[in-house]
Amino acid sequence: MHELSIAMSIIDIAQEYSHEHDGAVILAIHVKVGRMAGIVTDALRSAFEMAREDTSLCDTKLVIEDLPVMLDCRECGCEQPADSIQSLCCSECGTLSPNITQGYELEVFAMEIEEVEQV
Ligand SMILES: [Zn+2]
Repeated sequence: MHELSIAMSIIDIAQEYSHEHDGAVILAIHVKVGRMAGIVTDALRSAFEMAREDTSLCDTKLVIEDLPVMLDCRECGCEQPADSIQSLCCSECGTLSPNITQGYELEVFAMEIEEVEQV
C-alpha cells in the first residue's frame, strides 16, 4: 500500500522536526497533496492513523490540503483550474492546456507544535 509508506515518511519528518525542537509536541502536520499526485487522501488519512500508533505522534492530527490541478492557459493568458484531471482543458474557455502548474505536489508544509512555557 502506497499511502502507508507515504504516511510513514510524513511521521519520520515530523519526528525529526520534534527532535530538532527539543522534543516539541506536534499537534498537527499539514500536508499539500495535488490531485495529480496519485494519492487517495482518505487512504492517506487512515494510513497515517495506523502508522502513528505506538509513536510519539499518536495524538497528532494530519491536515490534508487538497490542491486542484492548475493549468497555464494561453487563451486566457493566466493560470486557470483544469476542467478535470483527465482532460487538462481550461475550465474557463475549454482550451487544451497541457502546461500543468500545480497538481503534483506532495509535501509537508507546516507543523503545529504545542507552545512550551519558557522558564
Ligand atoms: Zn482558458
